[in-house]
Formats: sequence, structure tokens, C-alpha cells
Amino acid sequence: KQSRTNDIRTENSPLQIFVKAKKKINDIFLEIDDYVDDTVRFIDSLKDDHKIIAQEEVQKVEAYKDKVQGIRYVLKRDHMKVAFFGRTSNGKSTVINAMLRDKILPSGIGHTTNCFLQVEGSDGEEPYLITEGSDIKQPVQSVGQLGHALCKEKLCESNLVRIFWPKSKCLLLRDDVVFVDSPGVDVTPNLDEWIDKHCLDADVFVLVANAESTLMLAEKNFFHKVSTKLSKPNIFILNNRWDASASEPEFLDEQLDEQKEVRAQHQDRAVDFLARELRVYNTKDAEERVFFVSAKETLQARLKEQKGESAHSGALAEGFQNRYFEFQDFERKFEECISKSAVKTKFEQHTQRGKHISTEIRQTLNEILDRTQKMKAEQMNAQKEVRDKLNFTEQQLILLTQEMKDKIHRMVEDVEQRVSKALNE
Ligand code: GDP
Repeated sequence: KQSRTNDIRTENSPLQIFVKAKKKINDIFLEIDDYVDDTVRFIDSLKDDHKIIAQEEVQKVEAYKDKVQGIRYVLKRDHMKVAFFGRTSNGKSTVINAMLRDKILPSGIGHTTNCFLQVEGSDGEEPYLITEGSDIKQPVQSVGQLGHALCKEKLCESNLVRIFWPKSKCLLLRDDVVFVDSPGVDVTPNLDEWIDKHCLDADVFVLVANAESTLMLAEKNFFHKVSTKLSKPNIFILNNRWDASASEPEFLDEQLDEQKEVRAQHQDRAVDFLARELRVYNTKDAEERVFFVSAKETLQARLKEQKGESAHSGALAEGFQNRYFEFQDFERKFEECISKSAVKTKFEQHTQRGKHISTEIRQTLNEILDRTQKMKAEQMNAQKEVRDKLNFTEQQLILLTQEMKDKIHRMVEDVEQRVSKALNE
């Protein structure tokens, strides 16, 4: 039943826009590769005949082979990347775990993320990690052990640790989404280095804010910097820990009003930040990018669901259902956004290159065809001239022999006449 549910989810997921486009562009580049291969083989068989093909043409077509292989290498590895930022303890790791439906990243006190952590899918069944500058695969048995492994490594905050998690355990990883968790934006003096190293190829940024306080300057500054380097970054704002503002049943009405007011304030400030300060969206679109969630509750609910229990079981704060729906709503919009954005940024340029390469090759082949047709016509012309000459000579010979025949005939007659005359005399 679980696998059928997964299949349905996979089919309906907006991530399929990227997954299908990736398959298609990889197939097209396989065809271009074959086309270049055929052309190289064909040109190779003619290259000794320098009159037909110029040396530069051979080199030009052969160079396309490496280019196409290079593009295919990149395309096979292309993925969608989402990066999470925010102050320490706002719940970045918990949000990622909730989306991945598993406790993959360590979270909580004593597990402050002190470097960049990237979670990506792997084909094997065993999770492992690789630290920056090394290619040793360190097995990861548990979250606790992962936290421990990260603590004992001497890691600099802008270093990257890659965690490879089995694709079979998670749909998002199977669909080529890569998650990046960052150290708190409040702790670093190296924003520029962070952005250059980890953000320039991110398709979506998620600012994990704390719904219990307002957006901090450090959080805003980070995104101001990002938007100077990327023209229109896709940003979502999650007001996390929204469960903390849940009302106690006995004060329901009063607290509900207060909660509405707090929400409206956070919403206005977040929209203002995205639309007026960063100018990445208009006001209406910005409203669609702000969510009020509880990552902790969502993760707990999902872990329960996976054990076959109800998401609603256990002690839950008032309003859990709404927060859970809002988290799912965020995920849906996030999937749509990342999928479309990644197709555009990752495949548009390669599509143009593929088009350019096949046009150039066709043009070279057209030029070779034109040249051979011209050579053939010239040869036929030359042959015609020889034929005309031969015909003329033949005609001349015919005429000449006729003339000679007449002359000899006349001479013979003349001689006969003379002889008979002499005899008569
Ligand atoms: P990070 O430093 O931003 O990665 O934050 P963590 O994910 O490690 O979370 C810090 C602490 O906040 C942990 O103890 C989490 O359990 C807790 N936490 C995370 N999200 C929520 C939430 O939505 N509600 C509540 N009440 N606690 C949360």
C-alpha cells in the first residue's frame, strides 16, 4: 500500500516537471552525441582527400565531440538545490528532516550546525558522509553518530559535508532534490564566501524564521547580499515554531485574536521584506511565499504515520491540523517553484548549446556537399570539352579522308587518261 501511495505521489508531484525534462534533455544529447559520432566517422573516411575536406573542418567537428561529452556529464548530474538559512536554533535542521520524513540531520541543543551540510540521494542502501577535501566514505549509522562525527571533525564553518542518503528511503531525494543546511546567519563574518561557495547554484532559498520573534537584521542582510549576486532569487519564508503561539483551550477567544494579530504583523513584515526591500516579488506573489508552520510537529506526525499510527495521536497543541496543512501547502508550492526554476536555469543554456552544435555540424556538412557538387559539375564540364574535341577531330578526319579519297580518285583518273593518251600516241 505504501509503495502505491508513493507511486501516486510521484506521478502528481510538480518535481516531475524537472525529472521528465532532465530525462528528455539527456535523451536528446545522446542523439546529438550519435550524430557527432557519425559525422566524425564520415569525415575521417574522407579526410585524406584534402580537396574535399579542409583540415580545419576535421578539427572543428572533432572538437564538438568533447563538448557534447562534457555537457552530457554535467546534465546527468544536474539536480535541484534548496538552501536553508536563518538564525541558529530557528529549526532549519528540523524543517529539512520534516521534508525528508526522517531524522537525518542532528538538531537541538548541542547540535548547532557548525558547517554546511548537504543531503543528497545515493543509489546504495547504506547512508554515508564525505567531508570536504576528502573522498573517504564514512558510514552513518544514526543521527547521534552523525552529530558526533560532525563534532569531532575540525570543520570550518564554510566547509561542506555531504551526506548521502538512500534514494529508496525518500521521494524528494529520488527526484533529484538536494538539501543544504547552513550554520546560523548570526554567527558568520563570511557571508560573501558562503554565497560564492554554496548559494550561486541554489534554485530556491528558504529563510527559516522564528515566529516567536521578528526578522533579524542578520537574516535580512544575508538575503540583501544574495540578491545583489543573483538577479531574482526564489525565496520562501517559513515562520517556524508557530505551535508555540498556540492557544490554551481555556483562553481560546482572547488568544485567538492575539494570535491573528501576531500572524498579520509577521505576514506584513515578511511581504514587505520580499516585495519592497528585496524587490524579488510583487506584493501578491510575496504573500504566496510566507508560511506559518511547525517543523517539529510535522516531523513527529510523519514519523507516526510511517509507523502506521495516526498523525493526530498524542498530545498536540491547538491548531495542529492547520499548521500541518500549511506545511504541506508550502511543500507543494516549493516543489512547483524549484522544479520550474531548475529546468530554466539548468537546461535552457544547454538547450541553446545543443541547438548551436547541431546547426554548426549541419552547416559544415552542407558546405562539404556544395563543394562536392561543384567539383562534380566541373569534372563533367571538363569531360564535355574533351568529348567535343574528339567529335570535332572525328568530323575533320571523316572530311579529310573523303577529300583524300576524291583527290586520289581524280589522280588515278588523270593518270589513266594520261597513260591511255600516251599509248594512243
Ligand atoms: P537549527 O539550528 O536552525 O538547525 O535548529 P534545529 O532544527 O536544530 O532546532 C532547534 C531546536 O528547536 C530543537 O530542539 C528543535 O526540536 C526545536 N524546534 C524546531 N522546530 C520547532 C517547532 O516548529 N516548534 C517547536 N516548539 N520547537 C521546534
